[in-house]
Amino acid sequence: MTQATGTLYIVSAPSGAGKTSLVKSLIDQIDTLRVSVSHTTRLARPGETDGVNYHFTTRETFVKQAGQGDFLEHAEVFGNLYGTSQSTVEKTLAEGYDLILEIDWQGANQVRRAMPQARSIFILPPGLKDLRERLTNRGQDDESVIDRRMAQAVDEMSHYVEYDYIVINDCFQAALDDLKAIFRAGRLSMDCQQARHQSLLAALLSE
Ligand code: 5GP
Repeated sequence: MTQATGTLYIVSAPSGAGKTSLVKSLIDQIDTLRVSVSHTTRLARPGETDGVNYHFTTRETFVKQAGQGDFLEHAEVFGNLYGTSQSTVEKTLAEGYDLILEIDWQGANQVRRAMPQARSIFILPPGLKDLRERLTNRGQDDESVIDRRMAQAVDEMSHYVEYDYIVINDCFQAALDDLKAIFRAGRLSMDCQQARHQSLLAALLSE
């Protein structure tokens, strides 16, 4: 018998594209959707909570866990280590939830290799000027830090072609609607519907 399991989604974006706010709105609005909480060695920013935004950990513990094969994927991003717990992904999907991994392009590559059925979405800003404005409005960073972030953003964006879907975050609501359409269509796909409606499908063909 086919077991109903959730679908794994990878969501990547350059910093400043609005990924975190979009994912938060999605989670609030779609009750079959969850987001994975990554492990990281970076320090918590003001307002971030351990176990909610990230599992904050030491480099020593992270490296040990990576060595034990605890991570589905892990990568170094801007000098810090980030990783996705393999067991949490397996458990959440087995419970029937769709799951979002908010990870960078390196992690996305590893997940595609391990789980080719995963779908991937790249969120882009509407333009470089707009991205610079968003990065500038965000904090008190000086011009040289903004320049470095812009270069990192362009580097991340150069991987957009590796993804299944592109969403442009020009208008927040429109981008949110696009994302919702992707998740809705995913749940209507043959595999998902067959698993979910086994008895109906059997009954419809029983005569
Ligand atoms: P931040 O530290 O600003 O929250 O995230 C920095 C970058 O790390 C973002 O591109 C984010 O997508 C990426 N990231 C966050 N969690 C993970 C993870 O578990 N694995 C990978 N590969 N990247 C991650």
